[in-house]
Amino acid sequence: MSEPTTRTDVLVVGAGPSGLMAAVCLARLGVEVTVVDAKSGPTRESRALALQARSMEIYDQLGLVDRVLAEADRAPRIVTGYRARTFAPISFDRFGRTLTPYPGIYILEQSRNERILSDAYLAGGGDLRWQHRVTDLRTDGPQPRPVRATLESPQGTSSIEARWCIAADGASSWIREHLGLAFEGSTNPLRFYVVDAVGTTGLVEGSVNLRVSPSRFLLAFPMGAPGHHRLIGVAADDPDDRRLEATVRAGLAADFAVAYDRSDWFSSYRVHHRLADRFREGPVFLIGDAAHVHSPVGGQGMNTGLQDAHNLACKLADVRAGRADPALLDRYEAERRPVAQRLVGTTDEVFARVTSASRIAGFVRGRVVPWLGPAAVRLVPALIGTGRIYGYLGQLRIHYWSDPGERARRQGHRDPVVGRRLPWSGDNFAALQSMSWQVHGYGVPAPALDRVARSLGLERHRFPPDRYRRLSPDLLYLVRPDGFVAAAAAPDRAADEFAARLG
Ligand SMILES: Cc1cc2nc3c(=O)[nH]c(=O)nc-3n(C[C@H](O)[C@H](O)[C@H](O)COP(=O)(O)OP(=O)(O)OC[C@H]3O[C@@H](n4cnc5c(N)ncnc54)[C@H](O)[C@@H]3O)c2cc1C
Repeated sequence: MSEPTTRTDVLVVGAGPSGLMAAVCLARLGVEVTVVDAKSGPTRESRALALQARSMEIYDQLGLVDRVLAEADRAPRIVTGYRARTFAPISFDRFGRTLTPYPGIYILEQSRNERILSDAYLAGGGDLRWQHRVTDLRTDGPQPRPVRATLESPQGTSSIEARWCIAADGASSWIREHLGLAFEGSTNPLRFYVVDAVGTTGLVEGSVNLRVSPSRFLLAFPMGAPGHHRLIGVAADDPDDRRLEATVRAGLAADFAVAYDRSDWFSSYRVHHRLADRFREGPVFLIGDAAHVHSPVGGQGMNTGLQDAHNLACKLADVRAGRADPALLDRYEAERRPVAQRLVGTTDEVFARVTSASRIAGFVRGRVVPWLGPAAVRLVPALIGTGRIYGYLGQLRIHYWSDPGERARRQGHRDPVVGRRLPWSGDNFAALQSMSWQVHGYGVPAPALDRVARSLGLERHRFPPDRYRRLSPDLLYLVRPDGFVAAAAAPDRAADEFAARLG
């Protein structure tokens, strides 16, 4: 028996966190979307855990943050240490407090993120088809829907025609391979283990724990109940998980005096650092792990996929509604690939340093950390008091050049506001929930703001002067639907400059 051909605007292949985020955003923006996934339902394993501040802000924009807050745990501090000895805690709150309404790191398992997103998508009448595997994809069909996907399901063969296809089909992306896009990078010879450990002893509760020993490191995230932690580290390359878990337990006890009663989940995998050479091929866009993979150090993986999805969905919605030229879609790769490239490079370097078997690395871990660690930890608040490091970790410092020539014109100098996500002034994020282009003023007189917004036909929002002084009281700001600042200008020039930016 065959299902009939479906026609839609966007076909999303893969209902992991990236694909589901794309679907929720597109549906919110009024774009028709169908999601297919070869699996029988959402992920059951916890997999990725950390939700960074920027992802929380996106959940806020989508009106989903209350449920996320109700289900997530907060890790407001990190406790570092050497072997079983711990140094003074470093509070994340202190750094993020003026940057975002969601300082610190939130812990919410990937499976629960997927559940929240799929519930939101289905509650809005979404079309989500489990057990539907894409087995063929053609992109040369007639306009306006050049994409034609063939799907296999227990009900038989079916097809979907779409304007665009989002490949959110994970690290081994069938679509990426089918399109012949290279996925260059490296594979680390070590094996990463992840344990959801219950009845854990030897760790500081309610904190992210990071410990080193001369030969190993341990990263542990709290997972709700006391004693419940996600433990991450590296071990010898042993594909037998039972044997590997026994080795891991012995190493944890010997190196860090950490033990656990049982594991709810134990898994291991080789760490890849890879980046697709292109994120777009005609009407097909790669997002999430299909476009980039890297080590889980820093808890950035799932978050980057969520943000790829959010960025792309806003652009597709603008083009679908005729508000933007289709050329805008090239900006997706121009904006998101450099972010992924930097992330893959940084996590690769950090991972290589942390796990290095070299004598120098062993000396640093075994001799320098125990002596200098306690003092260095005390200096951290002063060293990163500006929130710079937290801003990177929380993915709040991402910057996009507005066009290919801007970088050269500005000689590489990034503007502190334009091209970045709108700085948080304490009360300006609720305005972003409409997911529309808008004009903001932070002290500019109301008539000037009204005149500019009216001339462009855009929503306007007037706020008191920014208490953190990141936004100027003399400028108006053009804010994109994804919450990034597209332009800033004095009120007398804003109408023209913003119109040029809007195209
Ligand atoms: C064991 C493990 C532990 C991890 N731990 C962490 C961690 O601690 N921190 C972290 O940041 N990241 C971690 N990750 C990585 C994290 O899980 C990924 O970054 C995240 O899942 C990427 O989401 P995604 O939606 O892009 O892809 P995925 O979650 O991989 O989703 C891809 C989906 O596409 C579907 N699909 C594939 N091919 C087809 C097809 N042809 N047709 C239809 N559907 C298809 C698959 O069924 C799947 O549901 C871990 C990954 C693994 C495997």
